Amino acid sequence: MRSINPTTNETLAEYPELTPAEVEAKLALADRRAKAYRHTQIAERAGMMAATARLLRERRDGYAHLMTLEMGKPIAAAESEVEKCAWACDYYAENAAAMLADIPAPSDASNSRIIFQPLGVVLAVMPWNFPFWQCFRFIAPALMAGNVGLLKHASNVPGCALAIEEVLHDAGFPEGCFQTLLIGSHAVADVIHDARVAAATLTGSEGAGRSVGAAAGRSLKKVVLELGGSDPFIIMPSADLDAAATTAVTARTINNGQSCIAAKRFIVHEAIAERFEQAMTAGMLALRVGDPMDRSIQIGPLARTEFVDDLDRQVQESIRLGARLLTGGKRPAMPGSFYPPTVLADVAPDMPAYREETFGPVAAIIRARDIDDAIRIANDSRFGLGASAWTTDAAEQERFVSEIEAGSIFINGMVKSDPRLPFGGIKSSGIGRELSQFGIREFVNVKTVWIA
Ligand code: NAP
Repeated sequence: MRSINPTTNETLAEYPELTPAEVEAKLALADRRAKAYRHTQIAERAGMMAATARLLRERRDGYAHLMTLEMGKPIAAAESEVEKCAWACDYYAENAAAMLADIPAPSDASNSRIIFQPLGVVLAVMPWNFPFWQCFRFIAPALMAGNVGLLKHASNVPGCALAIEEVLHDAGFPEGCFQTLLIGSHAVADVIHDARVAAATLTGSEGAGRSVGAAAGRSLKKVVLELGGSDPFIIMPSADLDAAATTAVTARTINNGQSCIAAKRFIVHEAIAERFEQAMTAGMLALRVGDPMDRSIQIGPLARTEFVDDLDRQVQESIRLGARLLTGGKRPAMPGSFYPPTVLADVAPDMPAYREETFGPVAAIIRARDIDDAIRIANDSRFGLGASAWTTDAAEQERFVSEIEAGSIFINGMVKSDPRLPFGGIKSSGIGRELSQFGIREFVNVKTVWIA
């Protein structure tokens, strides 16, 4: 397993993959720990989770530096990511008891109620794009619910994976409560099939989701999948165009454009399309691309060189099929895995920029005739993760809220995750929810209690 700095493409460190015997030892430890940890009081777990939040804040700079080194996100964004993880830890430390409190359920029994019990050992397969945040939004609810975690992190962020194990250990979680498995994706199905593992969750691409979903299906185990997206960002004539265009640039380029909930398809009413194209192009052109450790830089490299090849193929193929290139679209002559902020207009259904998820700073602008057309285009995708719609017309807002096929709809704002709000998708964007009370109830046994 190799950690490579995408800013320079230099190797930072190499880590040996675990042998089957080492994986077995970790599974055995997780199993033993799960049997004991499920009986801990929720207040005790909350103490350790709050300690994790404190340590994350204390160690923020070091962990942020590690993330930026391993996957190239701008350093300020990495620092915010560590803060957000601490927020999620505090949020679940404070709220898990209420979320998992027994619910009275009057029936024909003298006493009937619903209780929530941990499932046991849960495997989390995680992506590199938010190397801390994706993990903590699993860890905080799962451990507060009394489960223990195993992490198979993306192969390009092994340093982050080990740092996460370290901070939970240092916060006082008992040995085996959370372990990192340095294994390749080929070894994931066997872990899911292991009788000591109760459930799995994956955040990643559709293909990986299918594999993990199939393995969980074969073993009849609970699975949560958080997959890709091609989120629409719709702008209607009544919207504040300047605010929409400024937010559009941020929503597309956050995390160097490598976010599942980044806005990817900009669906603009034809009456304002030209003005929006100009504003978006100016905004993208103004972004500074370079070393993500430099605080004046907004766009760092993509996380791996092969991602630059994939993204460039999508851009060139879309241009070949008739998309109008407004800016970018040319790989810069500099070392590292960089791709310039790019805007494509007149994007049409047969183009990769319309059909596929673009994982980098590439905006696809699509014109819509009216609101019906805008909703039709927004829903013309196999994905359904998030959506953002810009309009000050109350009737239009209601139509977007009720008719857009997605796990979330943000009106006059960009899609974002928040520990207090459920997060997840429909269609090929996933199964299940993370965060909020819905996330903590994914990995519990919802047990009916009926006493005559
Ligand atoms: P990825 O290639 O699917 O990898 C994600 C994780 O799955 C990695 O740990 C990877 O391990 C593992 N994996 C890959 N193929 C697998 C297989 N066949 N069986 C078992 N595990 C497998 O995705 P990525 O490139 O890291 O992340 C980008 C994708 O994640 C995008 O599609 C993005 O939209 C999505 N994402 C979704 C959300 C959400 O909440 N919906 C959030 C963030 C990202 P290796 O690294 O060892 O291959």
